[in-house]
Amino acid sequence: MPRGNATAAWEVTQPLRARDRVRADAVAAIGAWYNPWAHLAFPSLVGIGFIAASIHLLDHPTALELLAAPLFLVLINFNEWHIHRNILHRPSWPLQILFWRHTPEHHVIFVRDDMAMRATREFRLVLIPFYGILAIFLTSLPLTATLWFLVSPNVAAIWVACSMGYTVAYEWLHLAYHLPTTSLVGRNPLVGLLRRHHATHHTPELMQRWNFNVTVPFADWVLGTIHRDAA
Ligand SMILES: [Zn+2]
Ligand SMILES: [Zn+2]
Repeated sequence: MPRGNATAAWEVTQPLRARDRVRADAVAAIGAWYNPWAHLAFPSLVGIGFIAASIHLLDHPTALELLAAPLFLVLINFNEWHIHRNILHRPSWPLQILFWRHTPEHHVIFVRDDMAMRATREFRLVLIPFYGILAIFLTSLPLTATLWFLVSPNVAAIWVACSMGYTVAYEWLHLAYHLPTTSLVGRNPLVGLLRRHHATHHTPELMQRWNFNVTVPFADWVLGTIHRDAA
């Protein structure tokens, strides 16, 4: 098994039989208790709950405070690019598990011309762990507290709403890209446009270098990591 940054073994498209073996192993590892709809609903409800609470906390925000929202969304977009490129595609302590679930599993199972899940149980192969959204809220608490005490409670609430909303959007969009293209959501032209960007990233030969944004490819555009030829 390759170690460290040696990801070359996964940077080639494997034959369907080999990919099906990885898929069968990954699906077999899903517990009998697993409920794909609960896996989708939990982060969605938590995220929407945090957004509602944040909006409830807002107290006559100024225009300048509201301007924090687009700024936060841009920063989170760059952070999405960074986490995807440097944590999901390069094993890094103590988050190696995220690498192992992403590069040797998600990327081997789903490739550019075979992006669709085959059953709802495969939500497990696309969505982040159900507690991920809580982990994101907790790890960003120091920033939330800093904003609350040093800037204003309104800006802290806007930050929470943005980070939670972005996480939910990430989950919904990523799942949408891996739905069959003939499904109601998969047929949506905007989903189709964004899916093409992500599908290029699912070309094993390109995945380590190109198209790291999963939501809106803004950081990819700024940093010059949109692959033009394979789209
Ligand atoms: Zn994907
Ligand atoms: Zn990736």
